[in-house]
Amino acid sequence: MLIDTHAHINFSAYKDDGDEVVRRALKENTWLINVGSERKTSQRAVEYAQKYGRGVFAAVGLHPGSLRAQEIETKVDDQETVNFKMEAEEFDYEHYKNLAQQDMVVAIGEIGLDYYRNIAKPELQKEVLLEQLGLAECLQKPVMLHCREAHDDLLKILKTWTMVGNKPLRGVIHSFSGRWNQAEQYLNMGFYLGFNGIITFARDYDRAVKEMPLERLLLETDCPYLTPEPFRGKRNEPSYVKYVAQKVAELRGISLEEVAEATTANAKKLFGI
Ligand SMILES: [Zn+2]
Repeated sequence: MLIDTHAHINFSAYKDDGDEVVRRALKENTWLINVGSERKTSQRAVEYAQKYGRGVFAAVGLHPGSLRAQEIETKVDDQETVNFKMEAEEFDYEHYKNLAQQDMVVAIGEIGLDYYRNIAKPELQKEVLLEQLGLAECLQKPVMLHCREAHDDLLKILKTWTMVGNKPLRGVIHSFSGRWNQAEQYLNMGFYLGFNGIITFARDYDRAVKEMPLERLLLETDCPYLTPEPFRGKRNEPSYVKYVAQKVAELRGISLEEVAEATTANAKKLFGI
């Protein structure tokens, strides 16, 4: 069995066939964690998890991208373009605390820092991240961290976290995008690193995939995005996590079974599932 530790069946890309996609994964013995990025998608992640009861879990949180109003234009195909507006959300601790205490919620996420898309100001992002780290500490849940072009700031925040008297955090740097020496620093703090379809078509993370301890590696798809080879260009889904597992096996020179067994055990341990 495999576990897709970071999926977004709760996003509108699956509004018509989300259940089919989930069932396809479960049939292949692939479990998944749906991850929220704001109120609505967090709520929907919880609903999905509670509907299935087994094999489908949820993470709830406020993504840095949701801190600023956005107008998004997405091309569905040559015929169709979808436009939507997203209001900026202010972080409401009590709201997320309630949501995070529902059955099947296994993590706070996705939360973090994103300086790549020039979204909300770094100071606001950090402030909201710290509040959510506090929520994770309070509820003793792991964190699912998103980080783009902000690893130095994120590392600083995580290192200072315990120095100012907080309890240590557990969690994963999802879709790891840093350098090897940053990987080492996260690993030294006990964090897991998550890899997805990117490793099937980009070579930037081969060293991290090869050299990091297997007992800290998690598999994910980040679907509907980042579709692995051989399905580049199509919508991604949890059952494709096997292509990520295959690539990890190939890079490390071990069997697919060994990767499946280790990464599934890792996910079960971190998320308590
Ligand atoms: Zn994501």
